[in-house]
Amino acid sequence: MKVSHESPRPAGTAKARGHLRNSAIDAALALCRENQISLTPGRRRILELLASEGRPLGAYEMIDRIAEVTGKRPAPISIYRALDFLLENCLVHRLASRNAYLACGHGHDSKEPIVFLICEVCGEVVEAASPAMRAILGELADEAKFFPRSQVMEVAGRCRSCAAA
Ligand SMILES: [Zn+2]
Ligand SMILES: [Zn+2]
Repeated sequence: MKVSHESPRPAGTAKARGHLRNSAIDAALALCRENQISLTPGRRRILELLASEGRPLGAYEMIDRIAEVTGKRPAPISIYRALDFLLENCLVHRLASRNAYLACGHGHDSKEPIVFLICEVCGEVVEAASPAMRAILGELADEAKFFPRSQVMEVAGRCRSCAAA
């Protein structure tokens, strides 16, 4: 499969993380400006946390991280509200198989078909998409007279470095 918006890269390098962090935050800010959305400090904190982490985090892991930094444990409801907002605006994705969240710096539409390649060994997740996949899914939905709301696929396996180890 041709990966169009991001090519797989080694897990956890400082460079990769820095890049993801900047692109997720930049995409978020650009999108918010465009749509006149305000990124409140709470929403921004969650987005920055996910973007700098560069791997999926569960809501309770986020609460732990925020508590470490601020000394205060945020209420789960405030985390879920911020996540709902970020999900709606396609700044964050939810991985159903792990009940975890991942920042998205691609600035794409929420209906865009995407595939997550999830490494079961190191936990690295790569977000991928391809025009061919978009076309095939579009055809499938048309034939079934189906109107997709989200088109997210999760593929589990091993990343390049774990497969080589
Ligand atoms: Zn995305
Ligand atoms: Zn791996």
